[in-house]
Parts: sequence; C-alpha cells; structure tokens
Amino acid sequence: MPRHDPLTRLATHEVTNQPPDFAGRNLYLTDPALRAAALREGGEWLDAPLTALGEDAGSERVLEWGEQANRFPPELATFDRYGRRIDEVRFHPAYHALMHLAMRYRIQSIAWQPARAGSHVAHAALLALFTEAEAGTMCPISMTYAAVPVLRQHPDLARVWLPKILDGDYDAALKPIADKAGATVGMAMTEKQGGSDVRANATRAYRLEGEHSRDAYRLVGHKWFCSAPMSDGFLTLAYTDAGLGCFFVPRITPDGRRNTLYLMRLKDKLGNRTNASAEIEYHDTYAVLVGEEGRGVPTIIEMVHHTRLDTMAGTLGIMRMALAQAAHHVAHRRAFQKRLIDHALMRNVIADLALDYEAAAALTMRVARAFDGDSEAERAFARLAVALGKYWLGKRAANFVYECMECHGGAGYVEESPLPRLYREAPLNSIWEGSGNVIALDILRTLRKEPMTLDAYQAEVDAASGGNAHLDAAAIGRGGNAHLDAAAIGRGGGDESRARWIAERLALVLQGALLVRHAPPAVAQGFCATRLAGEWGRSYGTLPQGVDINGILGRISAGTFEDLHG
Ligand SMILES: Cc1cc2nc3c(=O)[nH]c(=O)nc-3n(C[C@H](O)[C@H](O)[C@H](O)COP(=O)(O)OP(=O)(O)OC[C@H]3O[C@@H](n4cnc5c(N)ncnc54)[C@H](O)[C@@H]3O)c2cc1C
Repeated sequence: MPRHDPLTRLATHEVTNQPPDFAGRNLYLTDPALRAAALREGGEWLDAPLTALGEDAGSERVLEWGEQANRFPPELATFDRYGRRIDEVRFHPAYHALMHLAMRYRIQSIAWQPARAGSHVAHAALLALFTEAEAGTMCPISMTYAAVPVLRQHPDLARVWLPKILDGDYDAALKPIADKAGATVGMAMTEKQGGSDVRANATRAYRLEGEHSRDAYRLVGHKWFCSAPMSDGFLTLAYTDAGLGCFFVPRITPDGRRNTLYLMRLKDKLGNRTNASAEIEYHDTYAVLVGEEGRGVPTIIEMVHHTRLDTMAGTLGIMRMALAQAAHHVAHRRAFQKRLIDHALMRNVIADLALDYEAAAALTMRVARAFDGDSEAERAFARLAVALGKYWLGKRAANFVYECMECHGGAGYVEESPLPRLYREAPLNSIWEGSGNVIALDILRTLRKEPMTLDAYQAEVDAASGGNAHLDAAAIGRGGNAHLDAAAIGRGGGDESRARWIAERLALVLQGALLVRHAPPAVAQGFCATRLAGEWGRSYGTLPQGVDINGILGRISAGTFEDLHG
C-alpha cells in the first residue's frame, strides 16, 4: 500500500471531464433560431435591444439573481409588529434586481410605445430571453403589459396609470399612484369554486353612492389565485345585477388609504417560486368599473389574449434554456472515449429536441407579429394562432425539459443545476390562462364562430404550398388528410372530444409551414418528416435515417458544435 502524506490526501481532487461554466454568454447572439425569427418578423431594429438583454441575461450576475430569487422565495407579512394589517409580500433583493432589469428593458411596455412595426415581436422575444434567466418575474411583467389595452378603455384610469406603466421604472413600495416612479398591474379572476368557468364567480360589486364618481364600487368576495399581489392594481371580475363586470382595484385608494384587499396566504407552488401567488379577499374593497356592467368577460378577455402570447414566449424561453444547457453539457462531457455529442444516438436526441425548439421559435415570433398587425386578417390569425401556440408549446414543454435534463445524466437532476427549476416551471404556461382542454375547446369555438380565423390560418399554410410533400399532404384543404377537413374542425359543429387532436394537428401543420418557408432545409425537412408524416417514435431521439442531423445541430448554438464528428 503506498503511503500518503495526510495533508496531500486532504487536498481537493482535480476535477476533470466536467463542462466549463455556462454563464457569461450572450443568450441572444448564441441562438440563431430566435435571432432569425425575431428579425424576420419584427425587423432589424430588434437586434439592438435583444443583443443587450441577451448579454445581461446570460451574465453570471443575472443568472445568480435568478438562482437566489428562487432559493429565497417571497414571504407574506399580513400584519406589522403592532398588529395592524399591512398585507404585503417581502422579496429577496435578487427579485427586486430582476424586476428593475426587466422594466429597464421595457418588457412591459415596448409593445405599446411608440407604435412601431414589430413591437410585439420585440416584447415576446425580450420576454423569452429574460425567462431563460428567470421565469417567475415575467408574471408581473406580462400582466402589466397585458393590462394596457383594458386600461385604455377607461380614459380616467388610462390618464393616471398608463404613463406609470409605459414610461415608468420599477418601484416596489406601496404608495399612491401619483408618487410612484412606475406601476405594475395584476389580474384576479379565479375563485375557489371556478377558474376556467369564471361565470361561477361569487364576488359581488356594489355601486358606491355619494361623492364618488359613478364608476366607483365596493367589492365583497374572494379570489383563489392572485399572482404578483404586490402589484399596484388588479383587473378583476365581480357580479352586479347586470352580470359579471370588469373592475380595477388599486392597492392604494385615490384618497391615499390602503385598500381593503387582504392577502390571506401565499400558495406553496411546484415552481414559479420567485413570484408570489396569493389567495385574497375583498372586504368592501374600492374598485372602478371598466367597460359596462355585465360586459366583464369581453372586457378582460383583451388582457387574457395578450397574456396568452406570453405563455408562448415564456415556454420558448424555458425550452431554450433547457436546450442550451443540454447542448453545452454534451459538447464537453465525454463518455466511452468520445464527447457525448459525438455519439450517434445523442446527436439524434439533441437534433430531435432542436426541431421542436426551432418550430416553437418560428411560431411564437410569427404570432407576435400578428399582434402588431392592424388588418382584420392578422387579428383573426392572432386570435386562433395564439391559442394553438399556447396549447401545443405547453404540451411539449415538460417532456422537452425532462429530455434536456436526461442529457446531463445525474448532473441534471440536482438542484445546483437549472434543470429542476426549468422542469418545475414547464407545466405552468399550459395550466394558467386557460388549461389545455379549455384552450382546445376555445379553438373549436373560434373556428366555429369566426370562420375568418380559419381562412387566415389557411392562407399562412398555403404560403408554404409546394415546399414540402409531407406538409402538402398534411395541410387541410388540400386533400391528403381525411381527418382534418373543415367539417371536423368546427364548421360542421365540432366534436368536443376531438378538440385536443385538432389543436395539435393544426399547430403542427402551422409550425411545419413556417419552417418550410423560413428555416434551413435540414430543419424543415426533419420536422415535416417526423411531426407531419409520422416517421417518428414517441420519445425524443427517434429521428429516422435520412434526416440531416448535423445540419440541424449546426443551428442550435452559435459556437457550440462547430467541430461535429460523425
Ligand atoms: C401558479 C399559478 C398562478 C396563477 N395566477 C393566477 C392569477 O394571477 N389570476 C387568476 O385569476 N388566476 C390565476 N391562476 C389560476 C389559473 O388561471 C386557473 O387555475 C386555471 O384557469 C384553471 O382553473 P381552475 O384551477 O379553477 O381549474 P378548473 O376550471 O376546475 O379546471 C380543471 C381541469 O378541467 C378542465 N376543464 C375545464 N372545463 C372543461 C370542459 N368544459 N371540458 C373539458 N375539460 C375541462 C381544465 O382544462 C382543467 O384541466 C394561477 C394558477 C397557477 C397555477
């Protein structure tokens, strides 16, 4: 037995065969798929803000903030030390730093000012990039962005609140709106007895008599999920005798008092832990009617429509970070005398994942452009395509992240890795703002009631006609697919039990069409052969022979796989 000096034995061992640090990269410039899609749909001007945020979001400092804000989740402070109600949430400083950064990049407002082509694309791409570093903070940012079109419907609210949203900075303290440097806005619809079915709401609104404006009400009731409860105001739903109305609830009333909006407890959530989600109660809570009594759902639906875009962008960010981490790992880790990426089967897994990321990026940026469009056709396209995107990206995300985790082996399963956090976050964008079934049924309803949405969809798919035989065969209206004719998708009535299948097929065909027109041939052909023609298994890593795997891998990450073998 060799004898060791005890000190030598205690010295730290040399670490080999582990990847270098991931941090310190520009998350945007290293992502050719996002960059191409964002510039194509939004315009060259996006390159500057996205490059800047890509640099910040990929920095060691910001990734560390994301880590800390998740490790030290928010805490509820219901009372002050003297027993007075305060109903505040305390956050780790890293959370505030992230919020400052997000609002400095105008993620909440770039879509609205100035009215510029591509501004919703800029919003969605910025939100996706930021999500790569930290997802939870994008909840208040997204809701603030989405509240703008609803607030615009009430000129008095718009005059006071919009400048704070559009030109404001992050200002965490609860203060009268006039004293704030900037404002954030949340949304509270879901109640204990019903979330998808908001007409089951029990909260009541009573008009305030006296010197108040005729739009002033008091609310009595509760909400079961109210995320970002430190927002400065909330859009919410409550019944009057005329039906459900949409109301704006400020945290501080116009006369400077804390509104009687009580935070009962914070949810102990699977993921999304930086972001507080509260159960709240309204005890004669001051509120302002937005729109008309009885028209609450059509009023607040504008906000829901816009947050749905962010469920796509948020999922895109989650997918990207998971894929980038996996690509980084397999590019450096060796097993059986080769780098992992030099093993044929690992190449198949990573390329297969990359196809879904490419398709997600192309779809999200195209849908974001439709939000910018002012033609009826673009609005119709946005209406349908955002639901298709929310549905399908949401359905892919958890399994996608899991496969990226598995590419790391055991190193992906430990909490020091970002993969567990991404995995816990992955289902959320599918559940909130309309869970899977509800979205699929919404798609059926849209097709039935607004035939123009199908025409707009069809025009987008037709633009790729002749570009790929599998796409042509799968696309509706061009023969080939007996299961997906106009009758089946709603014009003839629509079978609810088929709604998920229809949503999935419509989403895949749309993604295929976008890739055929815009992606490199390796990506478009690989996607259509597998997702549309069915030459594919039921898990990632089952691309058939003939797919140009190296061509796909070359797009994943600028600089990661420049020396592929095999
Ligand atoms: C982290 C988090 C944060 C949230 N933040 C907010 C917030 O800030 N504000 C807010 O208002 N809400 C918020 N929510 C609530 C969320 O929007 C709801 O949970 C969601 O809309 C579903 O409502 P529900 O929970 O009542 O489920 P239910 O409506 O009971 O639905 C349960 C299941 O049934 C399905 N289903 C419903 N109807 C049908 C049907 N007709 N046919 C077939 N299937 C159906 C749904 O798809 C779902 O899978 C949040 C949720 C989470 C998880």
